[in-house]
Amino acid sequence: MLNVVVAAALASTLAAPRPDTLRYEMAFARDDSARRVVDVRLRLRVAASGRSVVELPHAWAGHSDLEKQISNLEIVGDRSVTVSDGDSAFARSITGRPGAPVEVRYRLRQDWSGAVRRPEYFRAIIGDPYVLLVGQSSLARPRYGDGDSVVVDFAWKNAPRSWRIETSFGGGSAQRARTTIGELLEGVFVAGEFRAYSAPAYGRSIRMLVTGRWGFSDSALVAGTRTIVERERAFWRDRAARQLLVVTVPSSGGIGGTAYTNGLVMYADTTSQLPAFMRLLAHETFHQWNGHTIRTAGPEGGMKWLSEGFTEYFADRFARDAGLLSAEGYLEKVNENIRHYYTSPVRNATREDLNRRYWSDPDMNRYPYYQGYLIAGFVDRELRRATQGRFTVDSLLFLLYRGVRGTNRLVDDALFVSAAPQAARSALRDSIASFVVEGRTVPVVADSFGGCTVVRTSEMYPFDLGFDANASTRSRVVSGVRAGSSADSAGIKDGMRLRGWSWFNGDPTRSASIRVIEGDSIRTIAWLPRGNASFTVPQIESRPECSPSRPS
Ligand SMILES: [Zn+2]
Repeated sequence: MLNVVVAAALASTLAAPRPDTLRYEMAFARDDSARRVVDVRLRLRVAASGRSVVELPHAWAGHSDLEKQISNLEIVGDRSVTVSDGDSAFARSITGRPGAPVEVRYRLRQDWSGAVRRPEYFRAIIGDPYVLLVGQSSLARPRYGDGDSVVVDFAWKNAPRSWRIETSFGGGSAQRARTTIGELLEGVFVAGEFRAYSAPAYGRSIRMLVTGRWGFSDSALVAGTRTIVERERAFWRDRAARQLLVVTVPSSGGIGGTAYTNGLVMYADTTSQLPAFMRLLAHETFHQWNGHTIRTAGPEGGMKWLSEGFTEYFADRFARDAGLLSAEGYLEKVNENIRHYYTSPVRNATREDLNRRYWSDPDMNRYPYYQGYLIAGFVDRELRRATQGRFTVDSLLFLLYRGVRGTNRLVDDALFVSAAPQAARSALRDSIASFVVEGRTVPVVADSFGGCTVVRTSEMYPFDLGFDANASTRSRVVSGVRAGSSADSAGIKDGMRLRGWSWFNGDPTRSASIRVIEGDSIRTIAWLPRGNASFTVPQIESRPECSPSRPS
């Protein structure tokens, strides 16, 4: 243990002000069975300490075996260089003369098949229409801290002539950028047959790549993206924002989006409707600031109320302000969040619970999205009241951003609170401690989400299919039916063979159905997918004859 500490201290004192250069050569090729692969060569130098550790992709976005995508790993250097096993199966230790050149070579392949879908799409996508890689999933790299500066140099070889290449660090067959290890790992690299567009937004361009046939036109997609990005850049007053890359690829099962360094990828069902698509795009774009500039302190689950919940809150506001949601549609989104939060089976989870189960429990994974949404509304009202309307949750987030931009500071509760005016800090501190640390329920009060509203409560049931939908739809055999659940009462049994299924995820008021194969016939079973216990849920309604500009 002591050795490790001493080595780390030495490394930091010897670190030169000039950052290391990492040269990646990415060559498209085919393997023996004619499947597309990427042959990667990383050139770097042995650290000044005479010892470097190279890490392979391993754990990210719920996957913990990303090293399996890698074959033919070779690490070579000059005579002084020796390579040995690292402290894990996906790390190699390199010793040699300080500054000695080292080359890490490996072949990267897509190790899953079938439709592009979550969570598989977080692994490397290497196919014939396109290649989509993320630093975390695909790049070997020296073991540095996330905030450590590096120069990265990419060269893309043997791409088919018709392909476009765009990355977090620029387009074309070569890029060079000064960045950090964190930004490199969150970088996205795309090559393939795409329709490409670019549009200006608040002084800097957006670059868009689209593939697949959608229910909306490319021009509607480009116009909507431009409106959202322009509004968000204006919110952050970010004229220095770098070019943003927006990639849209078809996937199965709803709409997903992920924010990367200077870019985002929308993975969506081609039947997606434009408003829902744009609302998620607003969410992912907002992460360029709340997520990538405002970075939160670990462990990962414990600050998601800010990075995800606040992002949800603002995405709905941007969608409303851009005309994608009506005033009533906006209140419906707010109410939907309140319903999810109040009927969540993990509503009073503490921060410790969340840290422990964020990735392993789907309810826990969604929980901070709803919780943070409500906290944003609650905090907005509290700040307005404490400052006679001069300071809002918008001001708070903006000052937080200004405070951490260009630094390596990670935001925790204390730093968040310190962005508020002195007079509002202690109440804000108490709110965060109560809701986030202790898991107390966030109250919903009138005027938390705009004026001219009242709060009414009603009894509601949580959404609960009553069986293991993920496992069942994957294997096409029903499993995990819980005794006494709504599915159980409807006569659904483990082992039934599935021909089809349909339900509105998250909505307990609309009927769910499955079609099961019984001998030569197919039977449809329908039921209401709700849990047994009801909850008292507040809902916001607009007050007639009241306009928010003239609150009464
Ligand atoms: Zn998000």
